Amino acid sequence: MSTKGKVRGGTPVRVRMAPSPTGPVHVGNLHTALFNWLFARGRGGKFVLRFEDTDRERSEAGFERLIFEEMRWLGLDWDEGPDVGGPYGPYRQSERLPLYREYAERLLGSGHVYPCYCTQEELDAERREAQKAGRAYKYGGRCRRLDRAGRAAMESEGRAPALRFAVPEGQVIGIDDLIRGRIDYPTDSISDFIIVRPNGMPLYNFAVVVDDITMDITHVIRGEGHISNTPVQCLLYDALDAERPAFGHVGHILLPSREKMAKRAGNAYVGMYREQGFLPEAVVNFMALLGWTPPDGREFLSLREIVREFSIDRVTKAPSVFDHDKLTWMNANYIRRLSERELAERCLPFLKDAGLVSRDLTPDGGREEDRPPAPPGMVRSDFARVTWIVSLEQERVQTLAEIVPATEFFFRREIDYEKNAVTALRAPGVRDALAKALAEFEACPEWLPETLEAAGRRVVSDLGLSPKEVFQPVRAAITGRLASPPLFDTMAALGRELCLARLARAVSNNSSEVS
Ligand code: GLU
Repeated sequence: MSTKGKVRGGTPVRVRMAPSPTGPVHVGNLHTALFNWLFARGRGGKFVLRFEDTDRERSEAGFERLIFEEMRWLGLDWDEGPDVGGPYGPYRQSERLPLYREYAERLLGSGHVYPCYCTQEELDAERREAQKAGRAYKYGGRCRRLDRAGRAAMESEGRAPALRFAVPEGQVIGIDDLIRGRIDYPTDSISDFIIVRPNGMPLYNFAVVVDDITMDITHVIRGEGHISNTPVQCLLYDALDAERPAFGHVGHILLPSREKMAKRAGNAYVGMYREQGFLPEAVVNFMALLGWTPPDGREFLSLREIVREFSIDRVTKAPSVFDHDKLTWMNANYIRRLSERELAERCLPFLKDAGLVSRDLTPDGGREEDRPPAPPGMVRSDFARVTWIVSLEQERVQTLAEIVPATEFFFRREIDYEKNAVTALRAPGVRDALAKALAEFEACPEWLPETLEAAGRRVVSDLGLSPKEVFQPVRAAITGRLASPPLFDTMAALGRELCLARLARAVSNNSSEVS
């Protein structure tokens, strides 16, 4: 017999994200959360956040906060959840234990589950035997066959029972997966499974079904790792005479090496992308394209556009590859699209963390006397200066974190000189070129890129040198490196005092102390 159970799907759409707060948020979790969120937002539905925190030892409030933070960072909001409440609360499994008890009683009463008194040792022995015989392990059913007297005997030995589901024999569970199409599972391949441990704690498959039933969840969109849980969960829906939600299983995310990303924690946490200076709009755009493509194949889409374009039938069941280089390329594109002010606002936390600007610096400039003093060893900066400096690097940096090494010579009073800059400063004839440049720049009435360029060109023509022979050492002297944004913009942003001091020092030391 094939069973499809009662399938609800339909409207109003209610979907959920149900992470365990036992660690930092994995990219895979946020990927499926994003698809659920898009599905809800595109259909005027509700997106619910709830925590599977029955593992009390490993669940931490800190990880809950981290999940909130990462979701907010990506721009994904939730309509109901442990923090905002809602009509279907509580939204933590640890606060829903009486509900699981009630549902377990119902299943016990209807004969769908039975008490199982087997000890771990007995079960391990069964498992070893199956292994020896080369059989896939299935619970042998000893306690399923116990009669009332047999149970009483077990109880009198002081054994506390787990509750085990009596899987019906000879049936096929049919699931029409939203992403994978029809999947049939013979129940004979499913072992009688435990729903409640002897200590009264519900197991995942049972608790998630009770939650989804009592929260009126209509669609369960999750990673393909959960496919094998689905028939088990369907048996529970059917036994509880509840409508099954529609299920959709999204393909795995792989690393370019084809390894499952979930296995490699190193690249897998969303917080890491934030810390490395990826923009949330780039990350969300990139993640949406893992396993989904818009009808017109466009690559750059805002979250709002993705909501408009998203449909579950364009999600593929094939695994998708998390290509870090593509994410970086996308991020660089998003950085280039920011206004200078936005770029500066977003770079500010990175500059503060690196100690280059004051923690008190805010985008609302304020009066000169309100500006925070410089951190030790740094030049005093205001928001306008920061904006100017970071805008010079806008075309070059691929992440916001790169802004720190790229711009620190603007902020530090004393700078380090790269090896090749030192070499350039020690080349023959450089001292004269620098001395002449120093004199020309000192005489500049205004410290503007055009004025500075005119002065620099005078040095070139007066000394009969090539522009490179003059500008390269000047760049080396004032930035400590040979690559920088356009030289005269850099000099203008750096300011007269620092430029002249660094040039004077390079001249007087004839580079010998510069290294
Ligand atoms: N806590 C499970 C997970 O994050 C929930 C699975 C589900 O969506 O049913 O994988």
